[in-house]
Amino acid sequence: MNDPGTEPRIAHLAANDFPELAKRALDDSTLRGALHHVTDLFGDKRENAVAAMPEWEAMRERARRVKEETLSRLDHYLEEFVRNAEAAGVHVHFARDAAEACSAVEKLAQRFGAQTIAKSKSMTTEEIGLNHVLEDAGLEPVETDLGEWIIQLAGETPSHIIAPAIHKTRGQIADLFADELEVERTDDVQELCSIARRFLRKSFADADLGISGVNFAIAETGSFLVLENEGNARLSTSMPRRHLGVMGIEKLIPRFEDLEVFLRLLPRSGTGQHLTSYQSIFTGPKASPDDEGPDEVHVLILDNGRSALLGDWVTRQSLGCIRCGACLNVCPVYKQVGGHAYGSVYPGPIGAVITPQLAGVEKAKTLPFASSLCGACRDVCPVKIDIPRLLLHLRGKIVTGDGPPHVGRETRKGRFLERMTFRAWAWWMSGARRYRVAGWFARKLQPLGARPGLVQRVARKLSPPLGAWTAGRELRPAAPRSFRELWREQEGSR
Ligand code: SF4
Repeated sequence: MNDPGTEPRIAHLAANDFPELAKRALDDSTLRGALHHVTDLFGDKRENAVAAMPEWEAMRERARRVKEETLSRLDHYLEEFVRNAEAAGVHVHFARDAAEACSAVEKLAQRFGAQTIAKSKSMTTEEIGLNHVLEDAGLEPVETDLGEWIIQLAGETPSHIIAPAIHKTRGQIADLFADELEVERTDDVQELCSIARRFLRKSFADADLGISGVNFAIAETGSFLVLENEGNARLSTSMPRRHLGVMGIEKLIPRFEDLEVFLRLLPRSGTGQHLTSYQSIFTGPKASPDDEGPDEVHVLILDNGRSALLGDWVTRQSLGCIRCGACLNVCPVYKQVGGHAYGSVYPGPIGAVITPQLAGVEKAKTLPFASSLCGACRDVCPVKIDIPRLLLHLRGKIVTGDGPPHVGRETRKGRFLERMTFRAWAWWMSGARRYRVAGWFARKLQPLGARPGLVQRVARKLSPPLGAWTAGRELRPAAPRSFRELWREQEGSR
């Protein structure tokens, strides 16, 4: 779908500022406390939920296969979905990029004469920066998910895929409510929720249009599904007379029966719940005036760089993501710096993969390096996305400047010095005699390392790769005796 005339875009992108933003986050002990508390809680709950399900691995494998099947025949399933959705009375719209999507939603809202728009949580609308476009057009989009509403009040972007206000403490939320809503300050959680409920109820009643995300779209029936825990999505999609679902092309699954596996995997992976509290399936508008639900249902299907990833089986994997957030909760980098450091609405390991692929590597070239490659994200991913492999793949593109036109355009020249250094290193270390000599030198230079900071200071003066590595790492001391020496000695004593 994407063609050269379109420009994939992620709103509020500052991904190349990762090193600076991460440093700032590391200095914020309140933020780190909040992050650890929630990610550990989600992680523990997930572990318990998974332990109670012996067929977990089989379910993951089934989910991976369904996603792979869908993505390898996406054009076929898209056509099937559109045909069945339209037969059920849904108006289907397509958008090639963020600008087209925002403009289509704005025109729809104007056609409906909508002023207040009740929105339920949607990462896709965060991706395209829909709220700002609607506000600039004089409309009033109101986020009705509690976390999203909090960050909308604060004028921020989400810092976690499923818990957008994870970075905020109870005290900070109490201050925010007191300042923005002019209510008496309280940090009692029940009280804070009651305040939110009071304000949000009015928005549901006033809304002329409800906009939701889409968790899964079913080709076989033309239905789409929204999962949530607060009941706000159900209200946003049933009280206004028109409902619009916004989805990326990757949200499709072929059959209704495939839902079974995802409905079990997603909540367990994200929050450790066995099921999400509300599961709403939409198949067209209400059939008769006496029924409940909207008079009109629309769905907007967004590309925004996704179709460019379909041709390669490595990059295609990232479109299998079901946005559960489990990889964020286990990531040692995310747990330290939080979501805003990534400078993208998609943070964490999956954000480090999706952001450069959708927006272009040159706009997010530090993100694939924001990982220790420990593999924890791959181990928890319910659809078995090999995130470390994708990160390495993107690092390769960045370093060599190789790849599809929207990947690494600016870095075609590559890092010549780094490549030469690695080549020389590989040559030196692949010869037994040279390897022995290197070990001997390292041990002889060892006493220098005993003087604090000396080796680091020297290394920083060296060529850029060495200098960059040692700026943030301690050089490990070489073992006093080599493995060969120990081996020889042991063999001799025998
Ligand atoms: S990559 Fe996997 S673990 Fe991470 S959000 Fe997507 S589905 Fe969940």
